[in-house]
Amino acid sequence: MKILSGLSLQEIEEITDELKASKFRARQIHNWIYLKSVKEIDEMTDLSVKFREELKKVAKVTDIKIKVKQVSSDGTIKYLLEYPDGECVETVLMRFDNRANLTACVSSQVGCAVNCSFCATGKRGFIRNLNYKEIIEQVLMIQRDTDLKVTNVVFMGQGEPLLNLDNVLKAMEIFNENFQIGARRLTVSTSGIIPQINKLAELDMQSTLAVSLHAPNHEIRLKLMQIEDKYNMSDLHKALKNYVEKTGRRITIEYLLIKDLNDTIESAKELAHYLKDIKCNVNLIPYNPTAENDYQRPSNNSIMKFKFLLEHSGKKVTVRLERGADIDAACGQLKGKVC
Ligand code: SF4
Repeated sequence: MKILSGLSLQEIEEITDELKASKFRARQIHNWIYLKSVKEIDEMTDLSVKFREELKKVAKVTDIKIKVKQVSSDGTIKYLLEYPDGECVETVLMRFDNRANLTACVSSQVGCAVNCSFCATGKRGFIRNLNYKEIIEQVLMIQRDTDLKVTNVVFMGQGEPLLNLDNVLKAMEIFNENFQIGARRLTVSTSGIIPQINKLAELDMQSTLAVSLHAPNHEIRLKLMQIEDKYNMSDLHKALKNYVEKTGRRITIEYLLIKDLNDTIESAKELAHYLKDIKCNVNLIPYNPTAENDYQRPSNNSIMKFKFLLEHSGKKVTVRLERGADIDAACGQLKGKVC
């Protein structure tokens, strides 16, 4: 049985060829899957009943299930999706009241090997990569469930996207071509896998690279992110400069603000110095306390002081709006825990 979600137009044409139907039928099916997000073949109403019956014998729309769905008081929706092998990942739909954007935060792996100390996913360890179809199914599932069109995709769910780069790149190509989501509305986030950042620098991509820095120096970063031991901030700095030089694109620096650890005035100054020759915007993310560790959220006063100091150094700085904290959908809180 073929799964239609994730197939290219050419792959759908192979199915319609086998059924002795025209290429136009393949185009219709493609539109129903990607633009109209149908749940069942029977919803493809511009196909004859006879053809739909034939198609149902060899194909179905999807084989993943929504295992749990949670809706936050701010409208954020978190899904726990189950793949046929029983593995689960979480996917989040974020809406922002003042914007028309609907952003899907997708997972790229089941679990994660990077094991950042603040992250719930890392505690699970690495289970397996998702293939590109399993990645795009997350967005299709959101669209099917909500009847809404996702406008932005961020690879910030479970897993390290750059450790599953081929599947992530293929999924991005499909988001761009089949879902008609502009490349600039696609963001890949990384903990700082230097060889893969260098590889991305060689590709002519319009998407955004977000780098989870989270610290102003090697010592603090090592406490937060084991990856610093392998790919340290000094080498990362060279890779980021190289990326900007090669692509001309501005990087987004993600910085989780944790009380008394990396939120001090000294940290802000040190961070500003580290970033001074890198073309980037900075996204500050006040930490959401979890039961997993003792990290605390800084006071609003500390957050604003930190922001001011970075802005004073010439960077554009935003403080990320907290979405879905009441359903554990905020940054670092995904881990498929009921699976
Ligand atoms: S923050 Fe990202 S890279 Fe780090 S453990 Fe969690 S999922 Fe992996």
